[in-house]
Formats: sequence, C-alpha cells, structure tokens
Amino acid sequence: MYIVHVASECAPVAKVGGLADVIFGLSWEHSIRGNDVEIIIPKYDCMRYDQIWGLTLSFNDLWVPWFGGAIHCSVWFGFVHGRKCFFIEPHSNDNYFNRNTFYGCNDDVMRYAFFCKAALEFLQKSGKQPDIIHCHDWQTGLLPVMLAEIYQHHGMWRQRVCYTIHNFKHQGIFGHDILAATGLGRPDYYFSPTQLRDDCNASVLNCMKGGIVYSNFVTTVSPKHAWEARYTGQGHGLGGTLHTHQGKFGGVLNGVDYNTWNPEIDSYLVARYGIDNIDEKYKNKDALRDRFWLYKSNKPIISYIGRLDEQKGLGLICHAAHYALSRGAQFVLLGSPSNNATFNQFAHLRNQLGQSVDCHIELGFNEELSHLIYSGSDMVVVPSAFEPCGLTQLIALRYGTVPIVRSVGGLADTVFDKDYAHIDMSARNGFTFNDLNNSGLESAMNRAIGLYYDYPEEFRRLMINGMHADYSWNHPGTHYMNIYDLIRHK
Ligand code: ADP
Repeated sequence: MYIVHVASECAPVAKVGGLADVIFGLSWEHSIRGNDVEIIIPKYDCMRYDQIWGLTLSFNDLWVPWFGGAIHCSVWFGFVHGRKCFFIEPHSNDNYFNRNTFYGCNDDVMRYAFFCKAALEFLQKSGKQPDIIHCHDWQTGLLPVMLAEIYQHHGMWRQRVCYTIHNFKHQGIFGHDILAATGLGRPDYYFSPTQLRDDCNASVLNCMKGGIVYSNFVTTVSPKHAWEARYTGQGHGLGGTLHTHQGKFGGVLNGVDYNTWNPEIDSYLVARYGIDNIDEKYKNKDALRDRFWLYKSNKPIISYIGRLDEQKGLGLICHAAHYALSRGAQFVLLGSPSNNATFNQFAHLRNQLGQSVDCHIELGFNEELSHLIYSGSDMVVVPSAFEPCGLTQLIALRYGTVPIVRSVGGLADTVFDKDYAHIDMSARNGFTFNDLNNSGLESAMNRAIGLYYDYPEEFRRLMINGMHADYSWNHPGTHYMNIYDLIRHK
C-alpha cells in the first residue's frame, strides 16, 4: 500500500511532543511491512538538519494557488533515519515556516492551511497517487476538505483519508480569510453546522471539525480517550460532531518506537541494560546525579519529562516536586514551557528548590537528556488533567522506570495500579490516582515511595512487569492497516 503522512511534526527533526514520535514510529512500522510510506512536513528553519540525510531539491517549480495568485514553493527530499521525508518550502514574504518556532504565531491557521494546500498541490503535480493520506491534528484538518472539494476534481479521486486527533484542545479556528486564501470560497456552504462551522461559536469555522467531517476514518490515540471525547467535555466542543460521525470514529493506542526507546541499545545511555542485567540501570542513575550535581544516596529519583502546559497538571507537577523532597525522594524535571507565564512559574520553582542537593529543574527541550532521565530515574510522574495517550509513561515502562499517573485517557489504558487494578498481578506496572488534586497525587506517590523503601523486591517486580509489556507499534500498526484496508474498499 502507498501511504503518505502529512503532519506538522516528525521526530527528531521537528519535535514538540508525542505527535512527532507517532509520525516517526508508525511510518517505520508500515514501511518494514513492505508498504511504501512517505512523510510530508513543512521545511522549518528551526528543524534539526543534522538528523536529515541526503537533503536534496526534489521539486522546484511548485506554484501553490493562494488568494487569487500563487506562491512559489520548493519541495526537498531527505531521509530521516531511513524514513522518506518531503519538506515544503514556500518562498514568500510571509515566511510561513521561517519563524524560529514551530507554533505560537498569530497566523498559525493561515500557515497550516497553506501547508495543506501545498501538500495536495505537490502530490497532484508530482503525479503521486497514494492509496492513503494520513493526516494529523488540526494543522492538517483542512486537507481532506480541499481534497474532496477541489483536488478530487483534478485527478485525486482515488485517495482515502485517515485523520488522527492527538489533541482535541487545539482545533484551529478561522474565518472567511482562509476560505478565500485556499480557494474553498463559498462561506454560506462552509458555515453550515454540518460542515465546518464551530459547534460552540457560530461565527467561526473549525479545522479539526473539517477533518472529522471530510475524512474517511477518524481516530484518536487511545480507546479511553475516544470515549472521553464523545461522552465527557474532553472533546472540547466536538463531542456532538463525533456522535454524528461515530460510525467512522475509534481509538487506537499509540505505540513506542523501540529502536529509539530501548535501554538495551540506547546510545545516549552511560550503561545499557535489559531485564537480565537491570542493575546496570543504576549506572545511569549515577550519571544523572553527576550531571545535575545531585547528592548520591539511597533515595529514589522521581522525574517529570514533558511539555509544561495546563493539560499536564502544572500545579500538580510543582506539588510533586515539593512532596517528593518531603518524602525523602529526589526530583528531576525536564520541561518545555508553552508560554511565558508557565516559564515564570517554573523559574520560580527552580529558585525555590534548585539549590537543594536533591532537586534539579531543567527548562527547555532536550531529546538526548530525556533519554538519560528516563533511564536514570526510578519513577516518573504524569499528573495530567487530560491525556489523549501519553508516551512518557510508555517510554518509562520500557526503561524500568515506574509510572505514577492520573488515571485518565491513554494513561488509564496503559498503567495498572500495583494495589488496586482489576488485573493480574503480573500485569500491574505502576501507581494511579483519580482526583485531580494534591491529595490524589500524594496517595499514589506515597505508596510508590513507600514500596521503594520498604519492599524493594516488590518494587523491582513492578519495574520488570513494565519492561515486559509490549507497547511497540506492532499492534497499533496492524490496527491502522485494517483501517486503511477498510476505507480503501468502501
Ligand atoms: P504530548 O504529545 O502531549 O507532548 P506525550 O507524552 O504524548 O505528550 O509525548 C511527549 C514526547 O515528547 C515524549 O517523547 C517526551 O519524551 C518528549 N518531550 C516532551 N517534552 C520534552 C522536553 N522538554 N525535552 C525532551 N523531550 C520532551
């Protein structure tokens, strides 16, 4: 099968969060099964060019219709750790992808609407005829709309679209200007409630809703979150639309790329290890302490690795740091703040706790460092308000690092409480809590730290259970192939 992923991120070249890992992992899973898989992303100025091999100009004369005129684009090709990747570079004064940032610009919706149009234009002009176009998140929600309304009538009638929603919180809200820019036009038509009109605000349109309405199949990244999106507020206003389209909507749990995230072969580690030589893990713990000048003692290290966004339970992350120290544990944080206020909040935490020999707060994005923290920590904490899937806990499990998570979304589908899960002991792999407040978090952290100190053998059993679990792309890869097959033959 010929599959093209169109997305705004791809690890490790353009990575903000889990979306990048999914593009990287799922595309590989499908290509090793013999499918022809390609990836299209924007050519950002702030990408990691050192992670692209053989970058060459692939298509120079792409003119993308835009606002009645056209923007000249170059399309580049390169390999990202073996994945075939195309990078779209527009040449215009708008400098859509030369902003030294991936997201956070006032014209984000315009930037990605352009990207969708350019991706379709590229597929059409280069004569590519993929069986499946797999789109991701709001940034590519307009692609299936333009495919059906415009490009279908220019030879692209065979393509089927699978649309995966990694985060319902960001939906891409827009108005007449983008209809004019993309050539979709016809505001009366698109402002219909069955089309792209936002379900909460009748004066705007919604990219993600467009993706849901126009795609052949829609997924989100865990079964639990698929349920939450429909039946609780976690669809952020799209629950009704999901009901309407329930026949083509489901949850597929993300996987982890075990070629990248595997302590047996991870070249970023000081010492590699697996279930059979798990004690080697502690050399990484020492290295982590050396790196952050943490005191060497018998204390456990509890970490947080991730974006620092409201979604992640910011107040609880701060509380986890304080509570860990008060319970005789060490705490390490690697986090990328999503705005200035959050940066200030965590800079303050760093001032409060940074002098402690038991705590380190690192603000920023650092892929290499994250590997050392996953391997050197005893536990990770993920106290999210909502979590569509969550990769942090899945990676941690592979590294024998016990997750302490709020039981929501994909976290609930993958972490099973040591004491209270309704599941066989051999499958229990961490600690969970329900209530989004300090005492909820403390109830789980307290039990985790207690087990670490008082019943080390039991703690180790939990580590090994986690390392045994298979959260590779194998199962989700099959699941997505079944979806592709289904929509191809409809
Ligand atoms: P989300 O997609 O909401 O950001 P996930 O848990 O699904 O959360 O995926 C997060 C991914 O991004 C993981 O691979 C995690 O290790 C990585 N990550 C997040 N923040 C950072 C950071 N500051 N430095 C390094 N890696 C990070």
